[in-house]
Amino acid sequence: MSNVRATKSSTRPRRPSSERVAIGDAAAAEAAIAAARHAFDHGPWPRMGMAERSVYLRRMHAALDARRQQIAALIVAEVGCAQGVTHGMQVGNPLDHLLAALDHAGRDDSVRLPIDVSPDPFHPDGPKRIGGTTVVREPVGVVSGITGYNFPFLLNLAKVVPALLAGNTLVLKPSPFTPFSALLFGEIADEIGLPRGVLNIVTGGPEVGAMLTSDPRVDMVSFTGSEAVGAAIMGQAAPTLKRVHLELGGKSALIVRHDADVARAAAMAVAVLSVNAGQGCALLTRLVVHNSIRRSFVETACAVASQFKIGDPSDPSVAMGPLIREAQRAKVESFIAIGRDEGARIVHGGGRPPGLDKGFFTEITLFDDVDNAMTIAQEEVFGPVGCVIGFDTDEEAIAIANDSRFGLNGGIETADAAKGYEMAMQIRAGSVMLNGGTGRMSYAPIGGYKRSGIGREYGPDWLHEYQNQKSVFYPIGR
Ligand code: NAD
Repeated sequence: MSNVRATKSSTRPRRPSSERVAIGDAAAAEAAIAAARHAFDHGPWPRMGMAERSVYLRRMHAALDARRQQIAALIVAEVGCAQGVTHGMQVGNPLDHLLAALDHAGRDDSVRLPIDVSPDPFHPDGPKRIGGTTVVREPVGVVSGITGYNFPFLLNLAKVVPALLAGNTLVLKPSPFTPFSALLFGEIADEIGLPRGVLNIVTGGPEVGAMLTSDPRVDMVSFTGSEAVGAAIMGQAAPTLKRVHLELGGKSALIVRHDADVARAAAMAVAVLSVNAGQGCALLTRLVVHNSIRRSFVETACAVASQFKIGDPSDPSVAMGPLIREAQRAKVESFIAIGRDEGARIVHGGGRPPGLDKGFFTEITLFDDVDNAMTIAQEEVFGPVGCVIGFDTDEEAIAIANDSRFGLNGGIETADAAKGYEMAMQIRAGSVMLNGGTGRMSYAPIGGYKRSGIGREYGPDWLHEYQNQKSVFYPIGR
């Protein structure tokens, strides 16, 4: 893409199968960084108040809201995600996050520290001084937002909204496998009259990403993607000491206690595994099940999985679509082979669904008799593959849940909600869903412990990730 924003003004759904997108190169990245830097250093955006910027973001929400159907159709075509998940998690939830961010932005979060009386350091015997301090928040500067493919509208919105509301300028680089829903933001930036250079979108792959994370004109990198690339980005950003915000992968555990409603837990486990064909960072892929109910849990889960309709996601009755591309399916299949070789037992799936020769489809696969040390229990597969791991005591279940280099999410199913809450406190992860979880997700911070990331997205402190604090000291009475 060229430097500033997307170019097309069409409002009809763009079908990736029939349309093309330019692949951004070094020249496009250079132009985008220059535009963002100029807009930050000389443009009106960082100098506006929060209320003024919020007006633009409200317009953005209205423009996106009016295109819900178009965005959903785009995601079904671009990602291959089934329609139920698309309308809720891929489109509805992100728009809720935008509204929540606007709510939070409306609050004055500058802080007035107590008035202080102190001796004058230069005239210790002279009259004392009285003064105050105000702590304000200011934008960090030019932000690079780099995102993965699996929830492209959500992930891109989660960079655009906080970076811009906080007064930064942004260069957004979407995944090369899902560029279309990112370019939509450029179209809308034009429509709502966003000042030029505030939002810049560059397509392309790791070469463009490397420029956006190493250029000295960029002040901050906000990345959502894999653990390996997150670590590489920290290295690329280190020589210029950028602020780095990372939302990375996971291998989250669902603990099913002896007293859980087995039918409900098993149905929920399979439904979660199948979300976006298992391509979700926070999915509960390790099923840590009490040995007294493990057999019935596995039987029910297999029965539920066999009812799932897999197929073309443009068919609304389909519950699970394909994986994003052949390389991803090959990766999933190689993990399934490793699981089998290491001694885990496939109780459902393990192959390709019959009758679906076109598209990168895979079955929902369930392994039982999994040891938490096995590769399939430690690595992020990013496909609809669940590992059932048995346990006998709550302490053992927590130890298994925490025996992971990731710490993104977790879940507990139990009839004893208080015990479940106590256990949730012991899980080293950024979120825990107790009995399916309720509450207003759009208002809650989400992010990782350990190698699942650094920083939080959403929630009351979302904008703070994109701001610097400044303390202004002043005398009173003169
Ligand atoms: P990925 O890490 O392969 O790619 C993500 C982005 O990084 C892409 O835009 C890619 O072009 C870019 N990139 C690759 N190498 C780069 C480099 N050296 N420098 C700069 N940019 C580079 O991830 P993916 O396969 O697209 O997405 C799946 C991963 O994202 C999974 O691990 C998943 O768990 C994670 N994810 C995390 C969250 C979260 O909120 N924690 C959300 C969604 C996805």
